[in-house]
Amino acid sequence: MICSEQETLLEMIDLALPYTKHGKVATYIPALGEADPDTLAVSIYTTNGECYSAGNINQKFTLQSISKVITLALALMDHGEDYVFSKVGMEPTGDPFNSIAKLETLVPSKPLNPMINAGALAVTDMIAGSTVEERLGRILSFIHEMTNNTSIHYCDKVATSEYETADLNRALCYFMKQHRVVIGDVEQLLELYTKQCAIEVDCKDLAIIGYVIGNEGVNPDTKRRVIPMQIARIVKTFMVTCGMYNASGEFAIRVGIPAKSGVSGGILGAVPYGMGIGIYGPALDEKGNSIGGMKLLEGISHRFNLSIF
Ligand code: GLU
Repeated sequence: MICSEQETLLEMIDLALPYTKHGKVATYIPALGEADPDTLAVSIYTTNGECYSAGNINQKFTLQSISKVITLALALMDHGEDYVFSKVGMEPTGDPFNSIAKLETLVPSKPLNPMINAGALAVTDMIAGSTVEERLGRILSFIHEMTNNTSIHYCDKVATSEYETADLNRALCYFMKQHRVVIGDVEQLLELYTKQCAIEVDCKDLAIIGYVIGNEGVNPDTKRRVIPMQIARIVKTFMVTCGMYNASGEFAIRVGIPAKSGVSGGILGAVPYGMGIGIYGPALDEKGNSIGGMKLLEGISHRFNLSIF
């Protein structure tokens, strides 16, 4: 039998689905261009391990920029706030996610925040470990600990597709290496970053990750603290101020949930103390956010009164 929460989610998907017609899937990473633009799916993870889902929920997709939240938490755990924020700032930017402009005008050169590509690349450069495999393994283990799903891995096809076409990110890395923001080897950094972005999940995995972040770092099933409380708070705050690209301000007003989106069409939502949301809808608006996913999240926030403001 379908419970009322699930029925509500189905109704909301029906209301948001027509918006996908006005979006486009990302094609600058060629493999992402193969996604079906009409897909829309949601999972909501709530207390007591209840998970409600609707739409094409078996569809897997890559984290893309959502992975920036995870690597930020890991880098903060590896090195502490002082070191991480000596290299990456804390301020939102109105520029597109892959812009190089501010790197040149800010003196000393420092990416504005860890959610734009420059900042995320600098953060990935900090992930501890002696090889790309070891460092990627640490990122994956961290995700396994949050989701209790040890089958999560990266998609080689998407990673290779991005690695071979990532010339703008390459340029950002070389610029930052010149300014000592990036320390390690640039090609190894790009290999790790593109694999991290290509980690494949479904909506339920994303909803549990959102729950853990919203729950100040504690896994609801194992009761283990996976992320220190202060780091979970930092991550959540970046999700509010910079998580939805240069639409973060409008999103905070219309939806009011700490969230991070990726160009694959995923959205991670972390409602403080008791709800995680995972959304997938690969048709994007002009700022790179899932167009159907944004509508869906707006509807869910209003319906369940979830704005934190
Ligand atoms: N891997 C993507 C890139 O660096 C992530 C971008 C995104 O999802 O915003 O271009």
